[in-house]
Amino acid sequence: MSRVHLPVLGALLQAPSGLPGSVPADPLLDAFARRIRYLRVSVTDRCNYRCSYCMPEDLGDQLTFASRSTVLTFEEITRLVTVFAGLGVRKIRLTGGEPTVRKGIVDLVGRIAAVPGIEQVVMTTNGHLLDELAEPLRTAGLAAVNVSIDTLDPDKFHTLTSRGDLARVMRGIDAAVAAGLRVKTNAVALRGVNDGELLALCEYAWSRGAVPRFIEHMPMSEGQLYATDAELSSAQIRAALEAVLGPLTAGERPGADPGPARHWRDRDGREVGIISAMTDHFCDDCNRLRLTATGALHACLGHDDAVSLRDVVRGGGSDDDVIRAIAASVTGKRAGHVFERTGGGGPQKHMIAIGG
Ligand code: SAM
Ligand code: SF4
Repeated sequence: MSRVHLPVLGALLQAPSGLPGSVPADPLLDAFARRIRYLRVSVTDRCNYRCSYCMPEDLGDQLTFASRSTVLTFEEITRLVTVFAGLGVRKIRLTGGEPTVRKGIVDLVGRIAAVPGIEQVVMTTNGHLLDELAEPLRTAGLAAVNVSIDTLDPDKFHTLTSRGDLARVMRGIDAAVAAGLRVKTNAVALRGVNDGELLALCEYAWSRGAVPRFIEHMPMSEGQLYATDAELSSAQIRAALEAVLGPLTAGERPGADPGPARHWRDRDGREVGIISAMTDHFCDDCNRLRLTATGALHACLGHDDAVSLRDVVRGGGSDDDVIRAIAASVTGKRAGHVFERTGGGGPQKHMIAIGG
């Protein structure tokens, strides 16, 4: 068996315990008894939008994209997904950057959906290309899309995304619904930006048979454009919705994936999700890992530690070598995350690289 050096990005991870060369018995069970079942795969760090909280246009030179040769090929992604599926991962979320700008994305969805053990392939997208891609993606095996839509005002949408086209995204959402994809909408809730539109965003989503979701703003390295007082907490989002909808009741769905969104229902049974990454950590039942477009496996969105699976694969590593690298990442998975503003110990990685 080839010896493979495990390069690490960010903090150094402990090598997996046990005999050198042995494959851990349960590589996807972490030190806090959390079982990994879900892998988020960023397929590109590029994007056709420049959202102000994610990849602001004025980052200029600070924005450097991965060169093509460093990005995982479809064959490499499919091989890694196959290894993960063999270990028990059942759900893959494709993200980015913007996943739909990766050439051949429909083909990639088909390859991943065909991996034995993978039960669900889903995608997070800005929706700009969904009008034409929804049907082929569905046919290839995609089950659901989360579409980012932060405002229903076309001018504000254009400004917020630097180049986005709201009407086009809405056509994309309609196409996704028509194709039979389950649809959720995502909005980063920001005071002074869209706090006056929370109900309108809900009603828009409900009118399309979609589930609206609101995300607390996370001050990732480039997302610190917004001051703390622009951030709306999940409690504030909920209170603002309850002021118009009446009391919301916890609407957890039995057997649902333990995702980061807390689900609520209004008195008519309509569902809304609130993702409280900042004020109400969802770390205790975290069941996910994140793979960047360049093959860095991150155990946590809120820490920079990573193991390069690409280097294992390109170094001629066997599947057992990949499993050992995955186990190193899972072993190093922290109890919870840290999001602190500049000067603190928060993550320096970019949201565009990790994919949310
Ligand atoms: N391009 C796709 C999209 O926009 O949906 C997928 C990638 S994007 C990084 C994934 C999610 O992260 C989006 O829903 C986006 O709103 C969210 N996001 C980006 N930056 C964020 C930030 N600073 N705080 C909270 N959510 C953020
Ligand atoms: Fe692009 Fe999505 Fe980031 Fe917006 S949130 S800049 S669409 S990757």
